[in-house]
Amino acid sequence: MKILKLPKHRLDFFASVVQQFGEVHAPVEQDGKFVFRRLTRWSEARLDYPRTALPPKKYFLPPRETMFRYRENEGYVPSMDELNRRIILFGVHACDVYALNILDRVFSGEYDDPYYQTRRRNIAIIGIDCMPDDHCFCRSMRADFADHGFDLFLYGIGDYYQAMVGTALGDDMVLATGPLFEPMTQADVDEYKLRSSGKRRAFRMEVEIRDLPEIFEMEYQNETWKELGEKCLSCGSCSMVCPTCYCYDVADHVVLGARDGTRSRSWDSCLFSTHALVAGGENFRKDRSARIKFRYYHKQRGFVAQYGRPSCVGCGRCISACPVNIDISEVINQLRGVQDAVAK
Ligand code: SF4
Ligand code: SF4
Repeated sequence: MKILKLPKHRLDFFASVVQQFGEVHAPVEQDGKFVFRRLTRWSEARLDYPRTALPPKKYFLPPRETMFRYRENEGYVPSMDELNRRIILFGVHACDVYALNILDRVFSGEYDDPYYQTRRRNIAIIGIDCMPDDHCFCRSMRADFADHGFDLFLYGIGDYYQAMVGTALGDDMVLATGPLFEPMTQADVDEYKLRSSGKRRAFRMEVEIRDLPEIFEMEYQNETWKELGEKCLSCGSCSMVCPTCYCYDVADHVVLGARDGTRSRSWDSCLFSTHALVAGGENFRKDRSARIKFRYYHKQRGFVAQYGRPSCVGCGRCISACPVNIDISEVINQLRGVQDAVAK
């Protein structure tokens, strides 16, 4: 991997060069929250954000999308225009890059999803390093550092960014800037290592994921699930903000008597009371406790069995979004018999 450095005061010039590769989208502040959206000018970008309300996943698996139209005598007409937009997502945190790497495994493996895959090819990622706040436990989930899944990744160190080049496209972006990027010196490498250990020490929250699937296996009847079911509102906010939740609902929209229509999909949540409702009226997870338990078991146990790691990256969004303060790190630590989730 090529590693270079970029003076911080030239970042805006770099951003202007990057525009030739696609629409630049970055985190901006909106009503006291941070959201990824298309920039009208570079000065709107806020690269020092703690976390965005919705993860970058929304670009690859939008909250709602039309998959195709069907018309008499034309058959299926896929909606390709939107899919082929060239976008540069500027300022993606490592945990969100990691989350996309997890979604890659879901949508490029057993479930081949051409919509997701086309967007993944057409949307470039420029990552940015961050420091943890009180809800971050990405280090515990091994997602505080991304080694792939991005085109470029920037680490702010002193008055420059260390830039890791992840793909040929990232290299093209660097080359397009002429001599803007410089080689690293030994002093820069030493600074990077200091910054890396400083970040490690900054984590306040910790969970242990080793043997967690086995603990879940043994704690299926634990009272925690009943207590969570009594507290949870089944609002689904935790799923909606999660960068790795990927359930969606499919619906056909046909006007009675007409001979055409559309098929769309929209985000769904396993917390919703209808999620496990099937034809005939049978609901496999009627109770809230069964649904919240399912969410935890899928992320921390089922996904490990299928893909070799949990489908949680420790971004802390579900903790920030829950209206009744259900905290995933506290739940895990309670099941483990560890009362204090704060790292010592
Ligand atoms: S479960 Fe919560 S902490 Fe884990 S990735 Fe999803 S939103 Fe982030
Ligand atoms: S956000 Fe909280 S209350 Fe809403 S479904 Fe998730 S755990 Fe339940």
